[in-house]
Amino acid sequence: MKLDVDVLRYLSKEDFRVLTAVEMGMRNHEIVPSELIHRIASLKHGGTYKVLKNLLKHKLLHHDSSKYDGFRLTYLGYDFLAIKTMVNRGVFSSVGRQIGVGKESDIFEVAKDDGTVLAMKLHRLGRTSFRAVKSKRDYLRHRSSFNWLYLSRLAALKEFAFMKALEEHGFPVPNAVDCNRHCVIMSLVEGYPLVQVKELQNSDTVFETILGLVVRLAEHGLIHCDFNEFNIMIDENENVTMIDFPQMVSVSHRNAQMYFDRDVECIFKFFTKRFNVSFEETPEESDGSDVDSDETGRPRFSSIKKVTGSLDKELAASGFTRKDQDDIEKVPTPGKVLPFKRRIKVVEGICHSKYEFIEGDVEKDLDSDGEGTGDEGHILEASPDANIKHFDS
Ligand code: ADP
Ligand code: MG
Repeated sequence: MKLDVDVLRYLSKEDFRVLTAVEMGMRNHEIVPSELIHRIASLKHGGTYKVLKNLLKHKLLHHDSSKYDGFRLTYLGYDFLAIKTMVNRGVFSSVGRQIGVGKESDIFEVAKDDGTVLAMKLHRLGRTSFRAVKSKRDYLRHRSSFNWLYLSRLAALKEFAFMKALEEHGFPVPNAVDCNRHCVIMSLVEGYPLVQVKELQNSDTVFETILGLVVRLAEHGLIHCDFNEFNIMIDENENVTMIDFPQMVSVSHRNAQMYFDRDVECIFKFFTKRFNVSFEETPEESDGSDVDSDETGRPRFSSIKKVTGSLDKELAASGFTRKDQDDIEKVPTPGKVLPFKRRIKVVEGICHSKYEFIEGDVEKDLDSDGEGTGDEGHILEASPDANIKHFDS
């Protein structure tokens, strides 16, 4: 999906009024009846019709007349609403190049007036977890409020809340700047994802630091659940920053042990393969914790003692509610991504279901780059003429 922010500069007040009207209508409608959009936007002299046509042309809306005449937002339309809000709040004033493609997100550089560059993560749930979605069809069928935009908004809200809390407790994470709809603004992390790092001066130390983080997180009541070489950034001085938090769970989760062991295993596997780190002996506890390890050096989940004032409790009390957590947990994280052909099959599968919300976009995504987004995050080539677009608020 292309984010052509140029269009944003030419959108009028009326365009945003109608776009917002569609968003409001989507609280109760998967497809918002045109009639309702007219009423909410209440533009004079049938102005809504013309505006709808313009928004459709720029692919900010999707038209659906299968059951009745109506519209829904596309991810691009949702992007524009979030970006506009952030620009109005003065969070940033320009959008630059795309710096990352995650499994379910797009990451862009954005800049403030004073030149500070930040990272903008746009969550795009539903992009890759098609098979998982199919398996959860029953769940979806019984939820009228289900849609991908709603879940992407929850993912962003959760990521922002967790990033902020982790930062406050001294974890090496990006600085959480702001959040709106499905969009999170955070500081730009220097360096590269670990997956791109071929050599480390001090691989043992980095390994212990990373393992120490998994343990320390658990002591604070949390498990990352996607702790791997794609979600760990390393800078030139081999400092570690962890990213990507929408799938985190509490250590009291029923599958906590499995998630914890899986995170640990990912790190062990990667360091053995890439850096030849060996673990005959129990690694030293670099963070001073007294966690038992098994004979292979893997920390034992059962021996982890929670610190007081645990983050899982703290977060449960934050804006991210239990219901939000339940909703988002039911959408499986796209840990395993299917080969292209099978994914298509499942897409067709969903098309026959009641939930056709994002299929248009999904298919378009798959069409546009042939192989979908790939199964792993990667940095896009930095273009020398980083195409910066400026807006007025
Ligand atoms: P996803 O949830 O889709 O996997 P991530 O948060 O892992 O998304 O981001 C995808 C990629 O974007 C990362 O692997 C990384 O290369 C890049 N990225 C994400 N956040 C930042 C950031 N704050 N600074 C720099 N690069 C980032
Ligand atoms: Mg990631």
